[in-house]
Amino acid sequence: MSDKQAEQQIELEVRGMTCDACALHVTKALQGVEGVLQVHVPGWTSGQAMLSTRPGIDEAQLVSAVEKAGYRASLRPPIPPKLGGSERGPADAPEPPPADAQDFDFDLAVIGTGGGGMAAAIKAAELGRRACIIEAGVLGGTCVNIGCVPSKALIRAAEAYHRAGHHPFAGVHTAATGLDWPALIGQKDQLVGELRQGKYEDVLASYGDRITLIRGWARLQPDGAVALDDGRTVTAARIIIATGAAPRILPLDGIEDVAALTSTSAMALSQQPRSLIVIGGRAIALELGQTFARFGTQVTVLQRSPRLIPEHEPAIAEALADYLREEGLAVHTGVKPLAIRQEGDEKVITAEADGQRREFRAEQVLMAVGRTPRTAGMGLAEAGVTLDAGGFIVVNEFMQTSNPRIYAAGDVTQQPKLVYVAAAGGGIAAANALEGNHKRLDLTALPDVIFTDPQVAAVGLTEAQAIAAGYDVKTTILPLAYVPRALAARDTRGLINLVADRGSDRLLGAHVLASEAGEVIQTAALAIRMGSRYGFTVSDLREMLFPYLVQAEGLKLAAQTFEKDVTQLSCCAG
Ligand SMILES: Cc1cc2nc3c(=O)[nH]c(=O)nc-3n(C[C@H](O)[C@H](O)[C@H](O)COP(=O)(O)OP(=O)(O)OC[C@H]3O[C@@H](n4cnc5c(N)ncnc54)[C@H](O)[C@@H]3O)c2cc1C
Repeated sequence: MSDKQAEQQIELEVRGMTCDACALHVTKALQGVEGVLQVHVPGWTSGQAMLSTRPGIDEAQLVSAVEKAGYRASLRPPIPPKLGGSERGPADAPEPPPADAQDFDFDLAVIGTGGGGMAAAIKAAELGRRACIIEAGVLGGTCVNIGCVPSKALIRAAEAYHRAGHHPFAGVHTAATGLDWPALIGQKDQLVGELRQGKYEDVLASYGDRITLIRGWARLQPDGAVALDDGRTVTAARIIIATGAAPRILPLDGIEDVAALTSTSAMALSQQPRSLIVIGGRAIALELGQTFARFGTQVTVLQRSPRLIPEHEPAIAEALADYLREEGLAVHTGVKPLAIRQEGDEKVITAEADGQRREFRAEQVLMAVGRTPRTAGMGLAEAGVTLDAGGFIVVNEFMQTSNPRIYAAGDVTQQPKLVYVAAAGGGIAAANALEGNHKRLDLTALPDVIFTDPQVAAVGLTEAQAIAAGYDVKTTILPLAYVPRALAARDTRGLINLVADRGSDRLLGAHVLASEAGEVIQTAALAIRMGSRYGFTVSDLREMLFPYLVQAEGLKLAAQTFEKDVTQLSCCAG
């Protein structure tokens, strides 16, 4: 009998996990049990742990290890031998009631045509079901129209403008006038239009009558139907809510009388502002703040927390703040805005900083302080859909709401506000809604990128999270000045910070501040995922061949610095 055949597959239901650190905490607790060969917790939302063990292991010990770690566990019936993957056999969560196609206009009604809704409708069509997708606004939702696409187009243009005095959008920079703002905004809009047409309108059309697009604002009815604002009603066996989120506006004193910009209106300004106060210190605030600054606007960032991007490694947050200041942005942390007023052509923010009142003035104020879910007025409470304190829809690991007929995905839920999370969730929600709860969203090793320059990219645990999760943590920080690609590009701003478990030598987190860090991070995401599933280690990463010179080679070099002094690293010889 091979070693593989001598393994036993066990699945535990784990309750009480509330974050990525919990998932790793549970993994570590189970790895410590004698006879456990492999543990896979596919994200904290999964509520499960899948184990490969020696036959005859005392299952009570597994339950007790999880409970000692502070969670509750129970055994699930045996699962097929395959470990990992988010496609799972039938689970014991509540199954949605059977769909009787005869009774409804559609098998599935999806509300919202953003990344989440589109993925849901397409999945339904692929499963041979009749779906409708309802849209109140512009087709395509946030990402293509007012989010990822326009912001990244402007960021790229600003980068090139900043570095070379011209940028790739044809004819928007002239020696005589500097930046041609209307042309820049116009070409950004053109790109948005092209992508909306190609990736949303044409894609929907290609599904013919398998996906019916319905225009209108949808509201759930107590009888389970979906009412539209023009009086029509749609019925469907299952419903998916993918209505996204809108910019949050701080309730500052005076906000009713002074129009502050949001990310949406900032990217559509007909005139470039001379000066701009950005309230907020996370991704959208810093991406847009740096972009405006690079186009020549005088930018002041006001961040309430003691540091920018507070969820990221402190060394990265501090270095990024320094780089932004070097470019001329005024970055203030620990500042709490209280009031806003208009004085002539200036907006004035009164804020509290270090116990003192301070005023900040600029032509425009941009609020980038998070997103608020689009759930208001949709009849969700009456439909039995539970919302959290912030109004976000609560879903279980199957993307199902507290009403078993209704699923939700994307920014309207409590999940990370990223379009690839929305799309993955939408597809899973549709599959579960139509075929029973078989799939879970696996957010293990979720990479996240902030498109500043240098970029911030992160995956897995920070050092503080790893310590809190009980790991025997080892960390290393490699300044970008040791990465040949960065040296050749004459841009050594940044660092690579790795977090690993000393005992298992597994990578737990990677935090990169570097030009094109977003291209680097996926290698680290793979290393973390392969570590949790197949035991891939930091030594394995160190031994892999990386092309010379690419920025991702920095990961290998950083992995080497766990063992070696950075000054002993010889080029690609290691
Ligand atoms: C400035 C900015 C930059 C971003 N950059 C990135 C990035 O670089 N990478 C990334 O991954 N993510 C980025 N995001 C986040 C990303 O855009 C969102 O996570 C994603 O678009 C959410 O998709 P969704 O399907 O949940 O919702 P949305 O895309 O918001 O779609 C919801 C749709 O539902 C419609 N709707 C709402 N209520 C109703 C109703 N009652 N009836 C009918 N229709 C309704 C809306 O009109 C909308 O079209 C960015 C966001 C912003 C704002």
